[in-house]
Amino acid sequence: MKYDIKNLTLDEKLSLLEGVGNWRTSNANGKVKPLLLMDGPQGLRIAPTSEESPVYGMSNEELAKVEPTAMPSCFNLANSWNTEAAYLDGNTIADDCIDFGVDVLLAPGVNMKRTALCGRNFEYFSEDPYLAGHMAKSYIEGVQSKKVGTSLKHFCMNNREHDRFHISSEADERTIREIYTSAFEIAVKAQPWTVMCAYNLINGVYAAENKWLLNDVLRGEFGFDGLIVSDWRATREPWRAVKATLDLCMPKQEYAAGLRRAIDEGIITEAEIDERVERMLALIEKTEVEKKSATTKQERHERSVELAKESFVLLKNEDSILPLRKGKILVAEFTDNGFHHAPIGGGGSAKVDVLNPLKKLDGLIAENLGEAAEVSSVDNFVISSRIVARQAKIINRARQNDAVVLCVGNDHEIEGEAFDRQNIRLDAAHERMILNVAEQNENVIVCVFAGSAIDMSPWIDKVKAVILVGFAGEGVHEALADTLCGLNNPSGKLSETFPLSLDDAPAGAYEGNGLVDSYDEGIFIGYRWYDKKKKEVLFPFGYGLSYSKFEYSDLKIEKKGETDYEVSYLITNTSDTDGSEVSQLYVSDPVAMVSRPVKELKGFNKTFIPAGESRRVTLPLNFRSFAYYNLSLKRWYVENGEFEIMIGASSRDIRLSESIYINLDEREQLSQE
Ligand code: BGC
Repeated sequence: MKYDIKNLTLDEKLSLLEGVGNWRTSNANGKVKPLLLMDGPQGLRIAPTSEESPVYGMSNEELAKVEPTAMPSCFNLANSWNTEAAYLDGNTIADDCIDFGVDVLLAPGVNMKRTALCGRNFEYFSEDPYLAGHMAKSYIEGVQSKKVGTSLKHFCMNNREHDRFHISSEADERTIREIYTSAFEIAVKAQPWTVMCAYNLINGVYAAENKWLLNDVLRGEFGFDGLIVSDWRATREPWRAVKATLDLCMPKQEYAAGLRRAIDEGIITEAEIDERVERMLALIEKTEVEKKSATTKQERHERSVELAKESFVLLKNEDSILPLRKGKILVAEFTDNGFHHAPIGGGGSAKVDVLNPLKKLDGLIAENLGEAAEVSSVDNFVISSRIVARQAKIINRARQNDAVVLCVGNDHEIEGEAFDRQNIRLDAAHERMILNVAEQNENVIVCVFAGSAIDMSPWIDKVKAVILVGFAGEGVHEALADTLCGLNNPSGKLSETFPLSLDDAPAGAYEGNGLVDSYDEGIFIGYRWYDKKKKEVLFPFGYGLSYSKFEYSDLKIEKKGETDYEVSYLITNTSDTDGSEVSQLYVSDPVAMVSRPVKELKGFNKTFIPAGESRRVTLPLNFRSFAYYNLSLKRWYVENGEFEIMIGASSRDIRLSESIYINLDEREQLSQE
């Protein structure tokens, strides 16, 4: 160790355990390097009012030359189902961090999408812990391969924004283990330099003071060996946080003073403080290495375009209206309220603003289609309940065109931090606009900008095609134009279920009683809920179309051990268009002594398959693929008997399946402690 704790006075040590201002840590009277921690996950967010930001004092023009890249949201990344995309995303953001002197990026978040209303769903990956955990793991590896730290957040059960500082998320331990800590458990394998604890209480104890979660589960069982930082102002009683093994309180508060008092009163010892300080010193040392960014601003932008292309989900394509090839095409796009461009991200601490204008969607489509098409647009089209403008012009022009590309959706005022959505329908003005335009033109292509599930049932039957754009970052228009025109074949699939209505969703509109948010649905969130309740949905988890057609065949299950298998199958691209297919492996325990989901995702893969060719996909299964958390035994447990292995193009489109039989020795049915 470069730093010796013995060279620090008690007050210097205490100063290291809380922030200085909003984003920096202390230098302990000049004895250590202060750290700069800043937000992600959708790119590096330079906090606008931050006096510690290296860009403080820059004019907008100066900032526009160097501004960080707005990358696709985690919702988009998850819809790509491509862990390499998540790695590249992290890697690109890390280059911005290096250029701006940021030591730790406050990302990614793996909170489960328990309710579609959660304002921050666009920042999170999925309703499924396996998918979320693996995407986050790759993202972390991508950032940290550049020697920039990450902060895996928000540990745990911060699954809505409403009352996030005070509400107690209440669930049984099986639900916590199988659903809410599972994604963290997987992502922690990438050893993020830090984990950020949540604001809320878990079963009556604040996350920042929850020793069972922070010390026993996260450090002890998951093997996390980094630093635990509080969410911003998530700490309550400083000594209780230290006893729970929280290392760093952010930002500056009366935390060190509180700890000093607790030492004087004999509630905690200096030795307990030292353990936390050692973690802080270890983190500082990790940051003191040479780092080099390897990409230009232009290259980072190009990566944001490529990743956005991977993430779009084609939800409907009647009469193969897409890709566009010719004719008179009208493009009408709404803008993010208060900005001059379409929404590229949600609101709050994840918001990465761009000052450089986005390339224009109509111009890009015109460029792609050349002389075969005549593309026009309605500029500065704003549709929201707050402002309604140019509707008449668009509706009128719709009649004079062969097709209309209509971009609608949510902006940072509808999806953002510190509040939740009120419902999952589009803004009433957007719905009206779609219906009005569809009355005038039978070839409407709706592009939905949003960070979470949308109930499209009032209008989806009236339009020909729907592309889920998500919150795709600054490359959105280049990526969308290429997708609309067939230069990019859509390959995203939904990382969350789109229900027919909010009433069908597990937690519905319920927000808790102001004190407690009771997770009564238990382990049944997302597709686990809709499957159990046998509910029809608008679009199932894992669903997405392509311009190609894929067939699945030749399932082989090779046994390597009693719970170790190698599952492989063939996917054939039967179309004349090259494309990528996301395939999913689900496991089901059809007869069990405890209630279990109908199926659970235990593997996935995205493969590029040229037209007319086949590729074999191989996925492993292990003990945890079959286990559930047994409350009486307090261990993961595999019940002997039949398991069904299912390969799907979505969670409701199972193409291949076969049963296997597990017969473990009694002692091997339990996970080791
Ligand atoms: C958010 C965190 C964020 C932090 C710093 C908090 O309000 O919950 O995700 O990293 O602020 O901006």
